[in-house]
Amino acid sequence: MLDKMTIEKQRQLLLEEKDRLQSKIKRLSEFPDYGRNDDDNAKELADFENNLSLEEQIKYLLNKIERALKSIDDGSYGRCSKCKEAIESGRLEIMPYAELCITCQREKKN
Ligand SMILES: [Zn+2]
Repeated sequence: MLDKMTIEKQRQLLLEEKDRLQSKIKRLSEFPDYGRNDDDNAKELADFENNLSLEEQIKYLLNKIERALKSIDDGSYGRCSKCKEAIESGRLEIMPYAELCITCQREKKN
């Protein structure tokens, strides 16, 4: 089990990451404006489309962060959502929103 101090630290990490992602998404939603000729417009559109998929990735992460923050509140934080074992602490440090332990994550990929 994670002790209270570690959980608070993880909560801080999650909130900081949430802030960072939210300001990133705000910048992305502003349509880039490079100029008026066709080349510029093509680049502008390509960047906008790149930003869209980036925005989806960020939203996906924000979702995970929300779920992790909720699990801190209900006391299930730090447990693998599949096998219910404790998630490795090193993994939680790097990825505070991890929902699966390393073993289950690897199985999922295969
Ligand atoms: Zn697991």
